[in-house]
Amino acid sequence: MKGTGHSYQKKFADLSGMYADASAFDALRETRGDEVVYEVTDFKPNDRAGDLITGVTRMVPGQVGHEFFMTRGHIHAQVDRPEMYFVLRGKGVMQMESPEGKTEAMEMGLHTMCYVPPYWIHRSINVGTEELVMLFCYPADSGQNYDIIAQSGGMRHRVMARTDGAWELVDNSAYRARARDALGALMALGA
Ligand code: ZN
Repeated sequence: MKGTGHSYQKKFADLSGMYADASAFDALRETRGDEVVYEVTDFKPNDRAGDLITGVTRMVPGQVGHEFFMTRGHIHAQVDRPEMYFVLRGKGVMQMESPEGKTEAMEMGLHTMCYVPPYWIHRSINVGTEELVMLFCYPADSGQNYDIIAQSGGMRHRVMARTDGAWELVDNSAYRARARDALGALMALGA
């Protein structure tokens, strides 16, 4: 995207602690630690509720052990703000989790659109063998809260490669469900 004011990059080494197989992560970090594994470029006209942020995210393919490369993931700081994603290249999964811990994982091929509803935590995963490129769009006042995932020990499920190369959801054994009071405080942010 040309003419935009903002972009950021994540290097492999920045994603420490996200993957189940820590020794596989450490081994990859030795050789690919400085590699940019995803990049987000966006156009943010302002931060008013009625405006939109539009951008493109690019993710390289890969696995840490049997777990596919993924973004850090977030819930919107304004928790009741939705988002739209549209695949321009590659094959991905949008992993979505409600604050109560329900998972929806949507496979996204070329020209698939995914609607992420208000209140849902979301993360993109590249389950293909080429770059995953997606257009996204969300309300300009949404903001991002990345801590919510770390606070629960990760998302409830992991997207793992099966032996035939397809993906599957596997329980994340480190996941801790959000307590009722934390849930109430979170939902109140969108009221
Ligand atoms: Zn988002």
